[in-house]
Amino acid sequence: MSKVDVKIEGMYQEVLKRNPGETEFHQAVLEVLECLGPVVVKHPEYLERKIIERICEPERQIIFRVPWQDDNGIVHINRGFRVEFNSSLGPYKGGLRFHPSVYLGIVKFLGFEQIFKNSLTGLPIGGGKGGSDFDPKGKSDDEVMRFCQSFMTELYRHLGEHTDVPAGDIGVGGREIGYMFGQYKRITNRYEPGVLTGKGLTWGGSLVRTEATGYGATYFVSEMLKARKDSFEGKTCLVSGSGNVAIYTIEKIHQLGGKCVACSDSNGVIYHEKGLDLDLIKRLKEVERRRISDYVATHKDAKYIAGGNIWDIPCHVAMPSATQNEINGKDAATLVKNGCIAVGEGANMPTTPEGVKIFLEAKISYGPGKAANAGGVATSALEMQQNAGRDSWSFEYTEKKLEDIMINIHRNCFETAEEYGAPGNYVLGANICGFIKVANAMVAHGII
Ligand code: GLU
Repeated sequence: MSKVDVKIEGMYQEVLKRNPGETEFHQAVLEVLECLGPVVVKHPEYLERKIIERICEPERQIIFRVPWQDDNGIVHINRGFRVEFNSSLGPYKGGLRFHPSVYLGIVKFLGFEQIFKNSLTGLPIGGGKGGSDFDPKGKSDDEVMRFCQSFMTELYRHLGEHTDVPAGDIGVGGREIGYMFGQYKRITNRYEPGVLTGKGLTWGGSLVRTEATGYGATYFVSEMLKARKDSFEGKTCLVSGSGNVAIYTIEKIHQLGGKCVACSDSNGVIYHEKGLDLDLIKRLKEVERRRISDYVATHKDAKYIAGGNIWDIPCHVAMPSATQNEINGKDAATLVKNGCIAVGEGANMPTTPEGVKIFLEAKISYGPGKAANAGGVATSALEMQQNAGRDSWSFEYTEKKLEDIMINIHRNCFETAEEYGAPGNYVLGANICGFIKVANAMVAHGII
């Protein structure tokens, strides 16, 4: 990757100054800005209209108090966020993350990435993100319900099918979306399915939305492998995490002929040489909400490595699907040394800048999250289409649409990288291709 162009460097310095301490946001901005030097040469109007400066400043940022009572009547106070980043291509769209690490810098990095990711899907959605520092781990169903109700009691006034449409992310799945939808309906007295995506299948949700991020990321890697005349057939794979994205990544890898030998959670790693038993992982995680260490009680030939590093295990394909900055420079070097040929990011920004550099220099196929994991939000947009038409599509039809979208994103990133003289560099391809569409819409809309 090139360094930030002199014409853009000052803009990056300004972002650092205006957003002190928000390191994840700085990292996400730098990755995009580093790619834009050749773009502003071709498009001087972007400089003149201050497109980059405007894109780095969210259109609106909402921060609010979320008080709730636990099962013992104790009062807790969390902080809620919604950053409505960019609405050039459509209503703000992006998930909500409930995790103790959430603060404004995380929400802004996610919201910023979301702008370009959503642009890459080719669908009419702008970029936004939200969440809270609430920790759902160990909470009862009723506690989660009370928290979600309190969160939505403040957030609802900012939402709408043409305004802002949240969905899930880490810590927010079907259960949480259900509680938030119920509260939205109660407060507004409107049955408005288009206001949230990731809904249950009997009340406006789309088939394939649950599977979409993992399936989509795997389709993206499959396309990267095809571009190097290869496939998943017989490949040993690692998938970090064991949440929604990880589970459906493993499922699709197995369907495409690969073998996933390891997954993880924040406590440790499961290594099962003959291939992971996905039905068991689904039961442990989706039904019983347990930790993956329980896997070895059923499979004595599997290993649980407490505090282990999944990237130390040799593989052909790595799909980080847990959280940001989970692959550092050393991990990336280990993966390359062990013969990894493709990395597809199911998580958002899971590789540090040092790690990205190592992947690009090694010329392995590296699919950054904003391209590789766009299948989740793309299928959210398909859910919005079905809601708008009061329709519901079959699994096969919806999955085919998802696959076509991922093939298209891959082709656009691949071709953009070639056009800008960096063949095989999907980071550059994704950032430039995602940016240009948003920039052109911003130019068209005037100074707003
Ligand atoms: N949180 C997901 C993402 O990172 C999905 C967002 C959505 O479906 O709106 O893209």
